[in-house]
Amino acid sequence: MQWYWWLLIIFWTGGFGWVVDNVRTALRNRHTRRLELLEAGKQERLAVEAAHRPPEPVCGCTHHLAKHDRQGKCHELVEVPTAWDEQKKPVRFESGQCNCQQYVGPQPLSQVYADELTDLA
Ligand SMILES: [Zn+2]
Ligand SMILES: [Zn+2]
Repeated sequence: MQWYWWLLIIFWTGGFGWVVDNVRTALRNRHTRRLELLEAGKQERLAVEAAHRPPEPVCGCTHHLAKHDRQGKCHELVEVPTAWDEQKKPVRFESGQCNCQQYVGPQPLSQVYADELTDLA
């Protein structure tokens, strides 16, 4: 029998389909894995970037650290409601000072170092 008969027999019995399917699955798996690797790399890069970026120094009163004085008291002007309607929705506002007494947000790195230095001295 000639060698190509074997090829024909495999082809007829669906052997080729099996081989093609396997190759296709293998290729697809490799493709998915590469996408996953790319995705993981991206996530890692984002995490590293986030870790290196200092957090926004924003206080619990929603005002920036710069609005607080050395004692931590907030000087930002806020709208203080002075009158409410039946639904308890404020209808009139007066400008007043934020009554935050202490900055509680994240400290910028430069400030943390400065504090440590003053502690030592
Ligand atoms: Zn405030
Ligand atoms: Zn505050």
